[in-house]
Parts: sequence; structure tokens; C-alpha cells
Amino acid sequence: MSGFRMYIDGKFVDAVHGKTMDVINPANGKLVATIPCADEADVDLAVEAALKAFPGWRATYVGDRVDLIMKLAAKMREHADELAVLETSQYGGPISKTRAFDVNAAPGNLEYVAGIARGLTGHTISANPHARVMTIREPLGVIGCITPWNFPMTTATSKLAPALATGNTVVLKPASCAPLTVMKIGEYAREVGFPDGVINIVTGPGGTVGEAIVKHPGIDKINFTGDSKVGKRIMELASQYVKPVASELGGKNAFVVMDDCAVDGAVEAGVYGAFFNSGQNCGSPSRFYVQEGIYDEFVEKFIAKAKTITMGDTMDPATMMGPLAYPACRDNAEKFVAQAVEDGCKLLLGGERPNTPDTRDGCFVAPTVLEVYDNRIPFMQEEIFAPVVGIYKFRTFDEAVELVNDSRYGLCASVWTMDYRKGMLFIDRLKVGTSWINQHLEIVTETPWGGRKESGWTKENSLLVLDEYTWHKHIWINMDEEPHTFWENYLKA
Ligand code: NDP
Repeated sequence: MSGFRMYIDGKFVDAVHGKTMDVINPANGKLVATIPCADEADVDLAVEAALKAFPGWRATYVGDRVDLIMKLAAKMREHADELAVLETSQYGGPISKTRAFDVNAAPGNLEYVAGIARGLTGHTISANPHARVMTIREPLGVIGCITPWNFPMTTATSKLAPALATGNTVVLKPASCAPLTVMKIGEYAREVGFPDGVINIVTGPGGTVGEAIVKHPGIDKINFTGDSKVGKRIMELASQYVKPVASELGGKNAFVVMDDCAVDGAVEAGVYGAFFNSGQNCGSPSRFYVQEGIYDEFVEKFIAKAKTITMGDTMDPATMMGPLAYPACRDNAEKFVAQAVEDGCKLLLGGERPNTPDTRDGCFVAPTVLEVYDNRIPFMQEEIFAPVVGIYKFRTFDEAVELVNDSRYGLCASVWTMDYRKGMLFIDRLKVGTSWINQHLEIVTETPWGGRKESGWTKENSLLVLDEYTWHKHIWINMDEEPHTFWENYLKA
């Protein structure tokens, strides 16, 4: 048992300089655990361990690597109840969500990649009669993974699985407010027999530990999920070392409701997408564009449905929505709502802090809906990452295309219409990574996930994920004794 210590070189350790930090339950402000607060010295030790482990791990047969990954997944499934409770306590996602989603999706990432990794191949080309040319897929080395808090262990396994299966070793830094389930993964990895140093987990502030990982010369690639501003900072630092950065960043996602949609389905999906996990999903819709002919009906039904969301004790299976992850997230959401009202928006629902015995000590924000008249205001342009949405009335198809694309983000969007041809023509013109017709937020591991523009450029999930953790070494074999060059006749003469 680690007792929530860091996992470096197969050992559970405290920070070199002895510092600690607290993990607080955002639903009630109570202490969940005290954990090590690392700095550059701990990162050095973790990278040293990962470098030492790399040659042996890389040389291991892929079948043996994926066997260990499957054992890790099984261990997580065995401990699903404990992990769900821990996930809920540390970041506030209600137990109904962590039991239904996280404890399945996190090991699911490991199982999916364990299946596809054995099919990894390079290419062979008969370039000309004298040559055989091939590529070999090689691991990159040590991967620095930096993960957010909104799906703590699921995001961690989505990086760990492909990194490990392809023969890389890892230094992983989870988010400081929600590191505990990721720390558990270290504990299980040891129990199932991962060699020392293959997985290293370091906890501490992004500005110190995260940046030390990015800058460390022993780290070959950064795989980051988080806020676009932090992503830019990481790219800026990494560019000084020409170090590749895979980035899954923020979103400001559109939900477009056409006059000819099945309105009740659109309402249900819109309420779910906007408020599931308190809107703290990179793919949540937060900009609703509704066509004028259906506007009044959609808005009335949307508000009525949003009012049925239950908030409260996150350990109660009947609770649908928990708090935001920490006080600054709540304050930020409240600030954006106040600014939007100043900018002329009309508050249709929410806007006040819930004040029941189960919510008043936590970082709760009630489902909040604003009617918006200007798409350029910060409320419609900035990622707020909270259960707050804007609804805007549009008239034409072309106007809706422009509204969706009028964003520096490009993660995902959905369009609601029973005319699928129209839906296809609409999504053809969107600059986003994922688009749905009559669905929002649903994804499966088999399909790639990732954004465009300031939402990043990486592909997570699907067969494509293996490309993020390998490179094609190009090998040329000349079949003749003599080399072939453009000068060969001159040089021989
Ligand atoms: P942050 O960007 O604040 O934090 C993510 C991670 O980066 C944390 O581990 C954090 O550490 C670390 N970090 C912070 N500053 C630095 C730094 N200067 N250098 C290196 N690392 C740093 O994101 P959140 O945790 O708040 O997560 C929410 C964000 O993640 C949203 O923007 C959301 O859209 C995005 N996201 C995107 C997804 C996608 O697929 N596109 C999926 C899920 C989330 P610490 O916790 O110590 O600050």
C-alpha cells in the first residue's frame, strides 16, 4: 500500500525536500488526503528511473507488455468500488457518474490498446530492383504525461496504455487537485509486476513539476491534456528543445438546433451534454445556436429539463450533478456569468449559488442558462468549464456555419436535424475535430478524438493513437555490392 506516496523506480516515496500538499473534497471542503509535493529534484529521479528502465522494457516482447497491461486493467476492475469513491471524493464527480463511467472507461483504455498494439507494423517497399526499403516502428523513449482533473484516471490510462504497449517508459504528473486514483494505478502496476522504472508517478504543481518534466533532456515527448493557455506555455518551453508535444486542449463547443429537428431528443442531449459532470468535459456544448422557428419551444423545454437536475451529496446515487473541482473554478464561472449579464445577456436560469445543507460548503454552481445576442462576448468565446451555457437565435444555415466557426477553438460540435443530407453538408463546413448529427458527447475508444485550432492537434484513441508514441525508422538496404548514385558513371570512369 502506497499511503498516497509517489511511485518512482518501483518504490513509494515522499518528496525529496519533504514537502506535502492537501487534496480537498470540493463537495464539502474536507481533507481527503495529504500527498507529496515534488519539485525538480523528484522529477530528476523519476526521469533517471525511466531512462534506466527503457532498454529492458523496449526489448520485451509486445505480447508480454500487453499481458501486463491487461493485468493492470483487471486490477482496476477488481478495485472499481474503491476507485469510484476516491474519484468522487477528490474532484466532485457524483458517484453515479464515477461508477457508471470512470471505473469502466479507465481500464477500457488499457484493454483496447492491449488489443491493437500487437498489430503494430512498419512498411516494406521494393523501391527499385537494387533496394529493399522499410520502416520499423520504434518507441520514442521516455514520455512525459501531464493530465487534468476532469477525468483523472481515464485520461491517465489513455496515455499510459499506448505509451507502455509500444515500449516507452513514462513519467506521469496528474492534476494536483485530483491525483489519488492515478497514484493507485502506480500501486496496482507494482502488484501486477511492471518492472521498476517503467511507470513513474510524480505529484506537485504544474508550474514546477510539470515544467521540469517538459524541460528535462531525458524526456523525449510530452503528452499533455489540459487548458489551451497551459498547452501554449508547454509548447513554448518544449520548442526550445525541439521536443514534440501532443496536446488535447480546451473547447468551446457548439450545439446547433435546426427547425426540422426532433426537438425532445435535442433537448435531452443538450441538457445532458451541458450539465453532465457539471459541464467539466472538454466536449460539453456551451454555445447553443437555435433556429428561429423552433427557438421558443426548444428554450422552454430546455429550461424545464435543466430544472430537473439534482445537486447535492456526491456520494448519494440519486445526485446527478456535483460541484466544480475547486473554489477558483466556481469563482471563475460566477465571474463570467456576471460579465455576460453586464454585456446585455438575459439570465433564463440559475446564476445563484446553491444553498442547501449538502451544497453550501462546496463549490457548487447551479445549471445556468443565458439568452445571448452577441456571439463575440467572452461568455461565448472563452472556455468556462462549468454548467453555464448561452443560447443564441439564428435564422439561416449559412449564418449557423459562421457562428460555429467563429471561435478560436475547434474541438467538437453537433447539429440537430432530421434531414441527414443537410446535416452532412453542415458538418462538412465546420472546422472541428469531432462532429455529430443528432448526438453530442458520445464517443467510443475505436474512433479518434482530438481537436483543431486552439483545441490542439493530437489524436487520442483509435489505431491512430499508436502513431503518437512511435516513430518510423527508415531503413534502406542496397542489394548490390556497389552503391547507386547520380554520379556513379563519373566516379567509376
Ligand atoms: P490545466 O491545464 O490547468 O492542468 C492540466 C495539467 O497541467 C495539470 O496536471 C496541471 O498541474 C498541469 N500544469 C499546469 N500548469 C503547467 C505548466 N506551466 N507546465 C506544465 N504543466 C502544467 O487543466 P485542468 O486540470 O484545469 O483541466 C481542464 C482543462 O483540460 C480544460 O481546458 C479542458 O478542456 C481540458 N481537457 C481537454 C481534453 C481534450 O481531449 N481536448 C480532455 C479533458 C480536458 P496542476 O494540477 O498542478 O496545476
